[in-house]
Amino acid sequence: MPQHLEIFQLGAPIIRMVAKRVPDIKAVEIQTLIDDMIQTCVESKGVGIAAPQIGHSLAIMIMASYPNTRYPYAPQMEPTALINPRVIDYTEEQVKDWEGCLSLPGIRALVPRHTYIEVQYFDREGREQTVVFRDFLARLFQHEYDHLIGKVFIDRVESTQDVIMEKEYQRLMRKEID
Ligand SMILES: [Zn+2]
Repeated sequence: MPQHLEIFQLGAPIIRMVAKRVPDIKAVEIQTLIDDMIQTCVESKGVGIAAPQIGHSLAIMIMASYPNTRYPYAPQMEPTALINPRVIDYTEEQVKDWEGCLSLPGIRALVPRHTYIEVQYFDREGREQTVVFRDFLARLFQHEYDHLIGKVFIDRVESTQDVIMEKEYQRLMRKEID
C-alpha cells in the first residue's frame, strides 16, 4: 500500500540540496518511492511534488494537474512521474501568476515563468521522453524542477510585494470570481 509521507518544509536542509540522478529507475525502492509520492501528492490536493519534499534527495518529480480555482483550464492529467528531467529549450517570454507550495504552506506569490519549455525525462518504465509544456504545465514543471536544484518559488519573485499570505490570497480569489 502506498504511504502518505511527511512533507518537509522550508528550513529543512534537504529542500535546499541539489538532488542526485536516479541510477536505476526500475529498482523496487524507486518504484515504491514514486507510488508514495503520488499518494502524498493526491492526498495533499497538490498538483505536483518533488522527491526532496518527502525527504529523498533524488531527481524525481510528479506532475498531477487538474482544473482548479486559479487555473480552471488546467488540463486533467494522470499523476505522472518525471525522472532525471532536463530542460532542452524554452522561450524567453515569461508570465507572472500565482503559485503556492506544500513545503511553504500559507504563502502565495506571483512568480514569473517561461510560457513554453521543452524537456527530456525518463518515465517510470525507464523510457526516455521528450515533451513540450506550455502555460500552466510549463509553470508546474518549472516549479517542481526548481525543487530538484534546491530552489523554491519565493526565490523567483521579482519583488517581496508579490508575496502574500493564504488568507488574503483566498480573499483576492473571491474578489476575482465575483
Ligand atoms: Zn513546491
